[in-house]
Formats: sequence, structure tokens, C-alpha cells
Amino acid sequence: MNKLPDIGSNFAEWYQEVLVQAEVIDASPTKGCFVIRPYGYAMWEGIQQELDKKIKALGVQNAYFPLLIPEAFLKKEAKHIEGFSPELAVVTHGGGNKLEEPLVVRPTSETIIYHMFAKWITSWRDLPLSINQWANVVRWEMRTRPFVRSLEFLWQEGHTAHATHEEAVTMATNALAMYKDLYENYLAVPAIAGVKSESERFAGADQTYTVEGLMQDGKALQMCTSHVLAQSFPASFDVNYQDKDGTVKVPHCTSWGFTTRSVGALIMTHGDGNGLIMPPRVAPIQVVIVPIFKTDEERTAILAKVRGIKKDLDAQGVRCVLDDDETKTPGAKFFHWELRGVPVRVEMGPKDLVSNNVVLVNRIETDKAKKKSVVSADNLVSSVTDLLQTIQNNLLQRARDRMRSQWHQADKLATFGPQMDANGGLYQTGWCGSPDCEAKVKEFKGTIRCLLDEKQHSTCMHCTQPSKTDILVAKAY
Ligand SMILES: [Zn+2]
Repeated sequence: MNKLPDIGSNFAEWYQEVLVQAEVIDASPTKGCFVIRPYGYAMWEGIQQELDKKIKALGVQNAYFPLLIPEAFLKKEAKHIEGFSPELAVVTHGGGNKLEEPLVVRPTSETIIYHMFAKWITSWRDLPLSINQWANVVRWEMRTRPFVRSLEFLWQEGHTAHATHEEAVTMATNALAMYKDLYENYLAVPAIAGVKSESERFAGADQTYTVEGLMQDGKALQMCTSHVLAQSFPASFDVNYQDKDGTVKVPHCTSWGFTTRSVGALIMTHGDGNGLIMPPRVAPIQVVIVPIFKTDEERTAILAKVRGIKKDLDAQGVRCVLDDDETKTPGAKFFHWELRGVPVRVEMGPKDLVSNNVVLVNRIETDKAKKKSVVSADNLVSSVTDLLQTIQNNLLQRARDRMRSQWHQADKLATFGPQMDANGGLYQTGWCGSPDCEAKVKEFKGTIRCLLDEKQHSTCMHCTQPSKTDILVAKAY
């Protein structure tokens, strides 16, 4: 095992290396792709289970649609095909023969789902129709980074149809609120909710809402999006219905997606020089127990005791591992589990056995005096669950403090642009709404991440005309 690259000075290499060393991913023989190993997949499974409950609570049902979509479907909506064509993987041969019509590997599933909606929606009684799919999608990316951008990724995509525009907006904003809640309260990742500028909208959308995060290297990450589609989109698939008054109408549709990028966000928000840090709620392993002994007599007594402890933690639903591998030293075990970001370590040695105590070690505490605490073995379960809760809260607080310290109020692009280019960070400023002023941000390698609700800036960052809205500008992944 090599030492990790320095997280402060070499974040990109730290990220690549920690993913491999902690066995989250491995390299793949397919270019642009990567393999998610069991430890990494367990993180996604946790997210999936949590999110699936929330999606169902919004009245949305799961379904599944084909991976391969007739190419003509994508061409039905001009903006959609224009937005996606550079990224499409197209199947031209099947079963040894050239196909009469090529098939596209789904980059997203609006087209095939609207084809089905046209069949399923005929009357106002059929609305709203709310469907979610858990799937993989393919987008032919050239510059890839595990979880953040890759040729294939896993996600859920929600697709809904409504009678009114207001209902569609409510659905899209509810989905966004659901994502923000998951990020903050499950992954302990602070999330900024906002609206995308027109140039950053999803191909075929009238409005795109986004949740943005700030990673430790000062770059923003678009963590998920939801969209209100243009009505022309379902219309081009002949999705329509007869309303109560007998007139034929086109429904208002939404789509919204949350991907394995969330695993990248989680790791880039919390990790440190020693490896990953897993917020307890998503941690595949919340507690590792390490017994420490020298003599056979100590071994028998301590192993009996820690097995009892594991049973008690298991019974309370704490995800717990007893590392009783006798081929490894305690020091090697500490290193192994710290690298994987297990939030709490329980140590028990001969002295602890005599005093009926255990030592709890907090993965995120950097103050040596506070890192370890000695607690009675009798109250162990409640001490551990309390500590897990504390760690969950402190991780969110720590990430919020960091975001606050890098969130700058800024007036002129010419002034904050070079600072952003050099140091990253978030810059709240004013914008007149013109695409020309937006394009100027690119000169400093930044983009408008989102439009904000609050208004603190009266003039545009570039042209100094009156500002229409506050915006958040940053360099992004
Ligand atoms: Zn301007």
C-alpha cells in the first residue's frame, strides 16, 4: 500500500488513488468506464434504498424500459438530438447482420418513455402519470473521472406527466427538494438549490433546476438536476389527452435524475489525508471492532467479550465488523479501516477487559485528546449510536463551514475572475441576463452554476447594467 498523494496540494491524484486503495473501484479494460467494487457498490445501494423510499413517497412508481432505443425516436425532438448527438453510442449491427434501423444505447429515456406515454395517456383521468426507472445510461464522454463523468453510469430517472404547468413545476421542485434533503441529511453534503441559465439547460427543457455542491478543491459539482420539459417534447411523440371539456391537450412533463456521481460528491466532500470518511448514515460499515491481546489467555477472554459486543451492535442494526484476523497487527488494521473511512473504531485490550471498558475512536476528530474516549462496556451500544449521530452532524457542519468560507460576495468579474481561476470557490454576483456577459465567465474557466433566489447585487458582473438576478459563479467539474 502506497502513501496517498497529498490531499491539499494534489486533490485530483488523491481522489483517483483513494478510490483504488480503499477498494471502491478498479480500472476497467473498457476505456472511459470503471468497475465499482463491493465496498463502493454498497455506498450506492445505501443511497438507492434511501432515495427509492423518498421517490415512492412522492407517489411515483418504478418501471423499466429497454436499453436500446430506435434512433428515429431521438430525432423527433430537434433540441434533444442536437444536445445529445455528440454523446451517442449507436448500435448498427445485431446478430451478425446490419440493422435496418440503428439503435441508440439510451443516454436518457424521455423518448422511449413518451412513446409509451402516448399509449397510456388518453384521458384527463390518466393524469398525473408518474414513473421512475433505475437503470444505467451511456454517454460517450472523452474526458472521464470515476463517478463524476464516465461513459456509463447508474442513475434513477423520474418521468411524469401533468395536466397543468403549475403541477409540473411543483413536481420538478419537489424532486429537487428531495435530492437536497438526501444530500444534506443522509450524505452530510451541503447542497445549493437553484435554477440553470438557459445555456446550461437540459436539451429539450423549458426550465432546469439544479443542486450544486462545493468540493474540497474549491470546484463546484452539479450533483443532480430536475427539468420541466417544453410541451413540444411530449407533443412530438403524440402524447395528448382529452380533457374534461372534450378538448385535446398536451400534458406538461418533468424529468429528474440522481446518479452515481453522488458517490463521488460524498468522497470529495469528506475524505482526508488518511483516506475516505464515510458519514455514518451511508457508511457500509459503521463500526469496526479491533481486539488487542498478547497471551492465549487474553485472547480467549477478549474474543469472547468482543463477540458479545458485536452481537449487541448487530441487534441494534449497527453495521459492524469484528476484525479478528490474527495475521495482521492492530496497527495494520487501524490503517486499513481508516483508509476505508469507517466512522467509529472500538478497541478492547487486556486492561479494558479488567476495567470492563472499551475505547471508542472517532475517525473524523483531528484533536488527539478528543479522538479517543473510554466508555463502559455495559453502555457500549448507546455510546456508539450517540457517537455515530455526533459524527454525522459534525461532518455536515464541517462541510457547511468550509462552503461558507469559500462563498464570496463579488461585484466585478474582472476582479473576482482571476481569484476564481487561481483558487476556486463560489462567487455570488449580479447578472443582466445576457448570454454575452455569461460567456465572459468562461475566460476565467468558470460557469454560471445557478441563478439564486436572494438578490444582493444590483449591477451585472460584467456590463454593469442593472442585474436581473443574483447568480453563483464557479469553476466546476
Ligand atoms: Zn451584463
